[in-house]
Amino acid sequence: MQSESPKTAPPQPSDELRAQVIGFCRENGADLIGFAPVERWDEYDEVPVPFRPQSLFPPTQTVIVIGMAMPLPIVETTPSFLHKELYTAANQELDKIAYNLTRFLNRRGQASYFFTRDGYASLSALKQKPQAAFGHVAAARYAGLGSIGLSHNLLTPEYGPRVRFVSVFTAAKLDGQPVMTKDLCIKCEACAKCCPKDALKGREDQILGDYDLNACIDQHIDLVRKKCYPCGICIKVCPIGSDRKLYKQKGIVKKYLNEADKLASDPDHPDYRSWTHVRRHGCRLVE
Ligand code: SF4
Ligand code: SF4
Repeated sequence: MQSESPKTAPPQPSDELRAQVIGFCRENGADLIGFAPVERWDEYDEVPVPFRPQSLFPPTQTVIVIGMAMPLPIVETTPSFLHKELYTAANQELDKIAYNLTRFLNRRGQASYFFTRDGYASLSALKQKPQAAFGHVAAARYAGLGSIGLSHNLLTPEYGPRVRFVSVFTAAKLDGQPVMTKDLCIKCEACAKCCPKDALKGREDQILGDYDLNACIDQHIDLVRKKCYPCGICIKVCPIGSDRKLYKQKGIVKKYLNEADKLASDPDHPDYRSWTHVRRHGCRLVE
């Protein structure tokens, strides 16, 4: 069998390569694919220079951002072992697709590099230096996949914030989608009101809220101990995303807002039974 060598691969027209990348990502399970020309990091000037793609991999011309959706009914059980397993499965798939896409591009003579879906090794490392080595949320925004909401998550039209991302940096120059100019966040503040650590605060003057990263990390450290990491309540309650239509879960923000109080007075409240079941069985969140 003949192998494809990076040295001998003929240069391809960029639109042909772009179509191949999309085909590869679709076949390997991507729900969202975006292309961010590297100039956008300089143009928007929001990300500190050492955290930009060309600082990490100087040949970068395009960042390919791949998203995988997190099914809403499983996210709704959070915190639960089921949500933890979903998170782990999504992470494994994301790393696999990014690794394989990197090799796919290298075989076509395009030097590439992928950044694993979380840019940090542990929560305590993040607490010590509160910035991941690379931010996929900004990359996904520059790739035109959505806008950043009050919760600091990327909101997409398809899945709201219920999507996880990984990025592949490549020397190939591929056309980008336009950056989304519409803010998808409707400032309902459900994310801030439901946050168990009060880590999110709305601001009058802008969509993006204030975010207490340390409070959020503390919540995660607690959930790691209970083996029900991550939290993701702000992701669960966000009303944005067509996935709500699929699961017929539109207009249920009130149910989320009442959850903590209702369960405090009645841990077996029938409205929440499908969620409390997986918190009670298989882990020790509800005694
Ligand atoms: S992940 Fe949880 S603790 Fe962190 S901001 Fe979202 S709701 Fe709050
Ligand atoms: S829950 Fe509401 S305020 Fe928070 S990000 Fe979503 S739309 Fe914006």
